[in-house]
Amino acid sequence: MSAPFEPPYLALHKSGELKKRGQSLWSKMERCRLCPRECEVNKLEGERGFCGANAQLEISSFHPHFGEEPSLVGEKGSGTIFMTHCGLRCVFCCNWEISQGGEGHVRSVSECAGMMLRLQAMGCHNINVVTPTHYSPHLVLALDHAASRGLRLPLVYNTCGWERVDILQQLDGIVDIYMPDIKYADSAMAAKYSSGADTYPQVTRQAILEMHRQVGVAKPAQDGLLYRGLIIRHLVMPNRVAGTKEVLDWIAGHLPKDTYINLMSQYMPLYKAREYPEIARRITRHEYMETVEHAKARGLTNLDIQGWSS
Ligand code: SF4
Repeated sequence: MSAPFEPPYLALHKSGELKKRGQSLWSKMERCRLCPRECEVNKLEGERGFCGANAQLEISSFHPHFGEEPSLVGEKGSGTIFMTHCGLRCVFCCNWEISQGGEGHVRSVSECAGMMLRLQAMGCHNINVVTPTHYSPHLVLALDHAASRGLRLPLVYNTCGWERVDILQQLDGIVDIYMPDIKYADSAMAAKYSSGADTYPQVTRQAILEMHRQVGVAKPAQDGLLYRGLIIRHLVMPNRVAGTKEVLDWIAGHLPKDTYINLMSQYMPLYKAREYPEIARRITRHEYMETVEHAKARGLTNLDIQGWSS
């Protein structure tokens, strides 16, 4: 970067808009519709929704993470904060102890802001909030606290992709890097493996279009790091249950060809996956390479290809 990076959320903090957005999101917890489950429970009264969360922020851990995309990791790591609970609840979740087992501790918004500042002090290149959807009010308010105390890092929204567009619109100018999954192309697969979330393909596509509208294509700066943009993650699954070719076709037809796509090869049959024979194994080299070839054939040029290389 030729000039020091200044995240757009700083201007929103200075004008008071960041706090206002956080408060507006907070009020949505009275009949919670923060995610597409739309449970309408009163989290402010202590009720827990399908995700397992109420209005108390619960966090599992925070630390520099070196397993993320290279342009987020740099030399000092991506500053990850892992949220407890999740509204999607996949049967193959690799973090199921946190997302579905409730592993974590209650933290205040101010403590969360302190974690952001600690990660910045450790040299991390960004704040990477993992599974943020059900805690978006808390995170926006924590960002507001942290901005007043000197936070200057880009915010990475590391999400399953199943997001409401009206909530994402509240995050416009706050999130610098969106990092959604596209897990499935087919509603029946989404319903089967993600607790009945049959709207996943349609809702996630609309969400990703909104994310792209806000932050555009992810392009590393001169220092090799990302400060803004959209990174799409797609986990290739056994027996084509993720509908990878259809996912890639949709991206190629609706987003720029240089959209950053991380084609992930590390699927493992974790948590309850062994109860489903078709996903009870790792993927083969052939299954991975056919997706890489398909992406290239569709003209997609910005592929993060893992594991087996052609
Ligand atoms: S965030 Fe949780 S409580 Fe709110 S709608 Fe989603 S699953 Fe339900």
